[in-house]
Order: sequence, then C-alpha cells, then structure tokens
Amino acid sequence: MNSEVSLQILSGGFLDKSVSFELIEQKLNSVLSKLPVSKVFMGWALDKDTYKKTADFLAKRNIGFYLWFPVFSETNALRDLDALIDIHDQTIEYDRKNKGEAFSFYCPNNPNNIEKILDIFESEFVSIGFNGIFLDKIRYPSFGNKHGLNGVLSCFCPYCLDVYKKEDIDLKQLKAALSLTFPTPLGLTAYNGNGEYEFENPAISAFLKLKAKIIYNSLEKICRYFREKNYSIGFDVFAPFLAPFVGQDIIKLSNLCDFIKPMMYRITNAPAGLPFETNALLRKCNILDAVNVFKILNCNPIEKPFDLDFTVRELQNMTSLSACPVYAGMEINYLENIAETNQDYIEETIKAYTQTGIKGLALSWNILDAPEENITIAAQVIG
Ligand SMILES: [Zn+2]
Repeated sequence: MNSEVSLQILSGGFLDKSVSFELIEQKLNSVLSKLPVSKVFMGWALDKDTYKKTADFLAKRNIGFYLWFPVFSETNALRDLDALIDIHDQTIEYDRKNKGEAFSFYCPNNPNNIEKILDIFESEFVSIGFNGIFLDKIRYPSFGNKHGLNGVLSCFCPYCLDVYKKEDIDLKQLKAALSLTFPTPLGLTAYNGNGEYEFENPAISAFLKLKAKIIYNSLEKICRYFREKNYSIGFDVFAPFLAPFVGQDIIKLSNLCDFIKPMMYRITNAPAGLPFETNALLRKCNILDAVNVFKILNCNPIEKPFDLDFTVRELQNMTSLSACPVYAGMEINYLENIAETNQDYIEETIKAYTQTGIKGLALSWNILDAPEENITIAAQVIG
C-alpha cells in the first residue's frame, strides 16, 4: 500500500498541563517501530519544552513536525476575541476560560480576531521550530454545537454586515429567508457531492456560499503569514457533505494548503464525527423527512458505523477535484461512548479509504489514546 501515514497527538488544551515528553516518546517509539510515519500534528498545550523535545526526536527520524493549531475556536482561552452574532442579533456566548476542547467559536471575519490569533502563535509557538502548521477549527459552529441552528445562522456582526452590503445582499430579505422553516435542513433538496447542495430557497445557498468565502478570505491572510515563515500548511476540515454548513468550501480551500484532511470519523459521537454531526443536522426533522435526507445523500441511515460506501464516495469525489493531496482522517484512539473503535473498524476503514485516490491517512485524533491492538492492525493493513 502506498499511503502516507500521519499521526495526531493531543497534548492538551491551551489551559491544560501538557502531556509529558516521556509519554509522547514512549508512544512514538512503539508506533514508529510498526508504522512508516511521515508527519506528526501535535497541539495545543502551552509547553515549549515538550514541543522542542518532540521536534528534536522527530527531526532525527526525518518526520515532519506540525503544530496542531485551533484557529476560530479555543483561542479565546488566551485572547479576548470578538463574538459571533446570530440572526436574532444575539451574541453567541461561551465560557471564556475553557479547559480541554470547548468548541467555542468566534467571528472568522473580524480582522482584530485574526490579529490576536496570529499573536498567540507569535508569542507561544514561533520559537519552537515546527516544519509546518496544521490548522483546525477553520470554520463556524456546526449544527452539533451547543448553539445549534443559531450558530449556523451567523454571523451578523458589523464586519460581516459590511461584507453582505458589499455583496449587495438585501439584509431584510436574507433574514426573512433564513427564518423560514423547511422540512429538510435549511430546505436542502439535492446533493451533488463535494458539499454542493441545492436548496428550495436560493438565498440560503447564497448565504452559505458567502460564509465559505469569508472563511476562505480569512484563511488566505492567515496562510500568507505562515508562508512567509516557509511553513508547510495542512487544513483539518469537515467531511464534504457537512462542510458547507460550517462555511467550508473544501475544494476551494484545497488551493490554499499543501494537504487537506477531511475528518471521516465514522464512529465518533462528538464534534466532526459523522454520526454526531448528521444527527445534529437532522435533529429538527421528523422521521420521514430525515429518511428523505438520507435518500438525497444516497446514504444508508441504518448502517453502523456510518455508511462506508457513502463515505468512500465522498472521498472519491473530493480526491478527484482537490488541488492538493487529501489525507483521510480516521479515528485510531479509543474513548468510551465517544469513539469506540475496534480492530474490525480500523481494518475495513483503512482498506476502503486507501482505494479512493487519497494520498495518505491521518490517524486521528490522539495516538496517545490508541490501544496497541488498533496500531497493530493498522500497521498490518497498511503494510
Ligand atoms: Zn462576524
């Protein structure tokens, strides 16, 4: 098998104590004896010493070291960011001092936010000597966020209103369209792959496209900063069919980065997980309408883990149009009630994903929590 292998390490949230280097070293020694790893994405606890030791360890083995950096979420733990404003002109509030992963989202269009986010990198991470940056949370809140639909129907802050004005959007008409109720999520009627939906009301489609344009433009600025530092850049994105609801045009975004990792987590019952996000997307639908959405997607609602054939088609469509290599993100860690992976799951997922035209696999989202038997079966299948 010719798949590249990359690994993700969650060292802790910005306000958490970092996992020790000794633990990371021990796990990496064990994994690297079995798997040919080319890149490691690690973040985002603030402990320079652990990063530097890991950087030395990986440099000796010629493995690329990337900072796993959350962009429009989590960063509020370190800087006072400006909030998203929902369709009812209400501030989207989160706890300010979150530990771990809080999924607290802030306006991606606000230039002060972007400046503060880059300032975090400048003051905490610039001296470490990463080979690249792996940008996560480059999106708006999803249906699965605690703010649900209101989070999806954002942002209406002054900076965003300014964009809508420049794009000649009639705000009254837009808000009226977004306030309508539809049988399917936002009135979707067809799915053409790669996040391309058709909607009953064209204003909804225009709004989602505009959100994607805002994310793209902000990332263009952020990437310029990292390019000047000669960093390689990777993006962590939602699965194609979920991406448009969080402001991600994955094909367009693939032009900005060196590789892109769609999170194809078929067993994860947490944000970005396919079952979790799909349930949240369909939460307001009655059972018949929900079944209809699965038909539109050509996805089997009953299959557990999440429909493999559908997920494979998503990856095939994405690899056929992506401007950069695609690394399929799959779970390797085990977490009770959240990611109950097993050897069969790992085996069937790797076998299927590696036939889709992807460049590699990203064994996510925390190798430190990966049981030995998961790593062993992954190594056997990858060869
Ligand atoms: Zn805004």
